[in-house]
Amino acid sequence: MLATKVLDNAYDVALENFDMAADALGLDNDTREMIKYPERVLTVTVPVRMDDGHIRRFEAYRVQHSTTRGPAKGGIRYHPQVTLDEVKALATWMTWKCAVVNIPFGGGKGGVTCDPKHMTQGELERMTRRYTSAILPLIGPDQDIPAPDVYTNSQTMAWIMDTYSMTKGFTIPGVVTGKPISLGGSLGRNEATGRGVFYTIGSACEYLGMALKGATVAVQGFGNAGSIAAQLLFEAGAKIIAVSDSAGCIYNKNGLDIPELIHMKTLTGHVSGFPESEAIDPAALLAMNCDILVPAALENAITAENASTVRARIIAEAANGPITPAADRILESRDAFVIPDILCNAGGVTVSYFEWVQDEQHLFWEAQDVYNRLERVMKTSFRDVLKIHMDQKVPMRIAANMLGIGRVAEAVHLRGIYP
Ligand code: NAD
Repeated sequence: MLATKVLDNAYDVALENFDMAADALGLDNDTREMIKYPERVLTVTVPVRMDDGHIRRFEAYRVQHSTTRGPAKGGIRYHPQVTLDEVKALATWMTWKCAVVNIPFGGGKGGVTCDPKHMTQGELERMTRRYTSAILPLIGPDQDIPAPDVYTNSQTMAWIMDTYSMTKGFTIPGVVTGKPISLGGSLGRNEATGRGVFYTIGSACEYLGMALKGATVAVQGFGNAGSIAAQLLFEAGAKIIAVSDSAGCIYNKNGLDIPELIHMKTLTGHVSGFPESEAIDPAALLAMNCDILVPAALENAITAENASTVRARIIAEAANGPITPAADRILESRDAFVIPDILCNAGGVTVSYFEWVQDEQHLFWEAQDVYNRLERVMKTSFRDVLKIHMDQKVPMRIAANMLGIGRVAEAVHLRGIYP
């Protein structure tokens, strides 16, 4: 009989990471009971009329893990592998992430199990509007604010905002972030996650005494987060030697021309076939002899099976949950410096917060204001996490979780519990 490969369940990973940080904090059981699990979980059926006239049904979710520190906040993912457990994991990480960067949001996440690459714009629009209507009781600028995630973008947010606003009878831009600029989006939001990744890599290099200029980098996942991080690293003089997306992986030992690659990816939808590059096995990217590895695709990229092949000194988690706890332990023993997801990719939610503030105030900021504020938040948060890492002698992931979980624990205690 063929052995079936059991993938690590992202929610189990989130719970295991919670327990490790809660143990390190010495958190009592009552507090754990109050903050560990999602507050609200909604599963909906989304029927969509496809272009061929038939109805197709999609399973979809919205999870609010925590609203203790403010409205739930988190992206919406469209992907064939979306499951309720994945959405619960991503919502949980959002809670700790918002607390790490100290913005007044809780954690949420949404997802639709679908294959957007094989759907037309019309089908995607009808699915988005029907999904919005199904989760409408949960969302709102003071309740729960969605944003883009894998395979959703500013157009998706525009449809959600429009559907929500239609039911209220007036325009409510603050219900989503990551909107187009002309609909109340913020300058700098589109590149915020990659920019935040770049700032944390800069801080890590400074701490480790490594020069960013000339450093070699491999990026798994060339979407919003990965391509912008690559672009900024390229501009800072780093050499991006390997890049992959879901369709292929390319390599050039002298460094890839990232602005040209972004241009080609925009035109063709993939990185394969880029001039002056050779195609390599995607698994080889993770094992590449490089200074900095940026996993920017999906969960479970680095597991117990391949962690010992990773050679990078810095691993910057642009993606959520790319390293399993078992892999973490292997990387730790090899002295890799991991910038954990809830710190590394928090630039996206930080500028989402700026967008929400601008929408609420009807007053919009210059791009440079956004970058300056983002840089301050990311560098301060990096320092806060690093201090716990050094003082408590715990890995960076546990340190980041201790910071986030500790802040949520304090907030829940101060609020008390309704009798
Ligand atoms: P995206 O849809 O813009 O890009 C995803 C990229 O990953 C695509 O290029 C896709 O081809 C590639 N990909 C998918 N499977 C792959 C595989 N097996 N190997 C290599 N590449 C693969 O999505 P995104 O917004 O850039 O999100 C990427 C990661 O960053 C996700 O984990 C997401 O949760 C996280 N993230 C995104 C944001 C944001 O603001 N967009 C914020 C925080 C975290």
